[in-house]
Amino acid sequence: MSVNNSANKILEEIYEIKKRLGKKLLILTHHYQTDQIVSLGSFAGDSFDLSQKAASDKEAEFIIFCGVHFMAESAAILSASNQTVQIPEISAGCPMADMADIQSVKKAFSQLEAIVGTKTTTPIVYMNSSALIKAFCGKNKGLVCTSSNADKAFDYALKRREKIFFFPDEHLGKNAADKLGIAPELVILWDSNKKLGGYKAEDIKKAKVIVWNGYCPIHIDFTTSQILKARRDFPEAKIIVHPECQREVVKISDASGSTAYIIEYVKNAAKNSIIFIGTEINLIKRLARRHPDKKIIPLYASGCKDMFKINLKNLLKTLKKPGAYNLITIPDEIKKDAKKALDRMLTLT
Ligand code: SF4
Repeated sequence: MSVNNSANKILEEIYEIKKRLGKKLLILTHHYQTDQIVSLGSFAGDSFDLSQKAASDKEAEFIIFCGVHFMAESAAILSASNQTVQIPEISAGCPMADMADIQSVKKAFSQLEAIVGTKTTTPIVYMNSSALIKAFCGKNKGLVCTSSNADKAFDYALKRREKIFFFPDEHLGKNAADKLGIAPELVILWDSNKKLGGYKAEDIKKAKVIVWNGYCPIHIDFTTSQILKARRDFPEAKIIVHPECQREVVKISDASGSTAYIIEYVKNAAKNSIIFIGTEINLIKRLARRHPDKKIIPLYASGCKDMFKINLKNLLKTLKKPGAYNLITIPDEIKKDAKKALDRMLTLT
């Protein structure tokens, strides 16, 4: 059978299952998925949109999450007891999420509290993290944030406590602090391999925001030299980047925001605009196809290997066993605390 024939056969089977399950099935797809997977989904979004959708759709019994593991976990935390969550490829993870493990985070937080006292610091965790870490934040009056609301989460926290401990993304943490006008000297980078993160007690006391030293291997690829070159080649171009990019990159761009923000930015740009984008390549290519009247150019081609792990074959395999294959389950105790942290995020306005 040719490649096309076999893909068509898989597609037919997927359509048939979707038709049969109707509203009992909810396929959530992240914007970084391929066009084909996105076209098969019930709803496409960034991690914030998808977590809202998972929390609000009570009709679906089977939620299939086409994204990476931490996203499916978040959907499982927010889902009701009669809903199941599955991911087509269980090994689709996130290298950034793996940079903060629960033991290291707990250890760092207790070292911090030993210096600055308890109830002085709000732990904030980026959505890109394990359920265990979200539960830790929920238990400690902290919250989850995404790239679309990190600054609001910081503002929420600073109205209640003096300091923020943010993990795992150094860059989103620094960019959110910048957005709130927090002086860079009040933001320190915690090196998880060093005692007290590599600082003296007095440095920690002075800091307002402490950020973990994690990063996204895809967004770290964007540099200020790429932006300077783009501006030399196309002086009229606009540059927009994701806030997981380094602070210097964000600073010299024309705009920065979550995937949902980038999509809106391109949609609202005038005809014939030239826009360079610094984020995952699947999304940029889709935007270029959707807006042929504008010139959409990747600042650099950087793709997320884990997002690419979801394909037609493993999607079909999952759909054939609704509620039974590659299930994401979270123990009740962890779910309860992690939900507190996610619910706090969902109330941010
Ligand atoms: S793009 Fe970066 S942050 Fe997103 S899933 Fe891939 S590695 Fe993780």
